[in-house]
This record gives sequence, C-alpha cells and structure tokens, in this order.
Amino acid sequence: MTPHSQRILVIEDEAQILRFVRLALEAADYAVTEAATLNQGMLQAGTNHPDLIILDLNLPDGDGIELVKAVRNWSDMPILILSARLQESDKIQALDSGADDYLSKPFSVGELTARVRALLRRKSRTGDDSSPRIEFGEVQIDFSKRTVLRNGAAVHLTPIEYKLLSALLSHPGKVITQKALLKDVWGPTFTESGHYLRIYVGHLRQKLETDPTQPKHFITEIGVGYRFNI
Ligand code: CA
Repeated sequence: MTPHSQRILVIEDEAQILRFVRLALEAADYAVTEAATLNQGMLQAGTNHPDLIILDLNLPDGDGIELVKAVRNWSDMPILILSARLQESDKIQALDSGADDYLSKPFSVGELTARVRALLRRKSRTGDDSSPRIEFGEVQIDFSKRTVLRNGAAVHLTPIEYKLLSALLSHPGKVITQKALLKDVWGPTFTESGHYLRIYVGHLRQKLETDPTQPKHFITEIGVGYRFNI
C-alpha cells in the first residue's frame, strides 16, 4: 500500500465477505479499514474521513441506512451499498437516503473494483470541473446553450425529455431511483408513475443511443431505477 492510497472503510459483519472485499481492494492498491457493526462504522466514518464507504445494510446492531442518513448530514463521501438480492426495497430506500450505488451479493472482484473506481472518479471530478458540456457515444450536449448534437446534427428533445436527460446526466454512474427521477422531472405528485419513465427513457434511447435495443448509456436497473453511463 502506498502512502497516497485512497482510503476505503468497509462496514460488514460477515467475516467471509469482509475478507473478500478487503483482499480485492488491497490488490487494487486501496487502503482498507474495517468495521463489523453500525456503531463502529459510524465512529470510523466520523473520525477517519475515508474517501469512500462500502456498507452492508443488515448489521447486528442496526440498519445501514441509519449510517447513510447520518453521514449525509456532514459529508458527500461516496457510499456503496452491499445488499442481498431480496432486499430490493432496502436498496431503494438506501439510494433515496443518499447512498450512491449498490452491489447485489454475490458479486465479483471485477464488479466491485469497477464500481469503486467509478465512484472515486466522480468524486474527484465534482467541485473542480463545472463544465456545462458532456460527450458520450455520438452525442455532444452543451447545457449552457441547451443544445444536443448527434454526429454533429441537432437533435430535438421535448422539454420533458431534456429535463430527464439533465437529471440522469447530473450523476454519471449513479443509480437514480424511479421515485427520485419522477419527483425531479414531473413533480412530487407523480412518484408512482413509473410507466412515464419507461416511455421517456425509451425516447432518449431512440434519439441518443447508437443501438436503442442494446443501450450503453441509459441503463435500466431492474426494480430500482436508471443509471447514466458515459
Ligand atoms: Ca450483514
């Protein structure tokens, strides 16, 4: 481990998973600290200020969501949730409480390190780069001029499509729940109208994806929400 390693706090009570995660992260040159309970995790998050937290939701002394809420009162450090597949509603609640992403157990070393890299990259980008331009695939967007180009040609988006695009692009790599997107784009009374999202994400794929049937940028996270990947 180098002195410049980014520091990751892993909060997980299952020894086997903790060991797996630690070895994977140390092999990728991160400095890892561990906590096996919610209280230890709270304490370490507050005193050590890690660059990223990896958090199990089911902890012996409480619910990981409590930690997400507490940390969000004083820090925007990235939080990656580890969850069992059956905990869909917990996953959504964690994202809506301010967690940045989740991994369903079981997961591979490759998935884990890719998510960690993406979250740390985003953290280092925010704050120092307020560029209103973004490029992905064949698409160039200039938010200051409100223009969308594809292969150099202007693409017409309706106001709702543009709003949805802005909401998704404001957090590249982050899963945004259906509820949060609906609230952002349509307003607080539409949070149950998931079919709007399916339709309008479909429009964005038609207009902006190279192959709308195999989307690379506007990704569905089944049962949870959507993710924009650059
Ligand atoms: Ca657990």
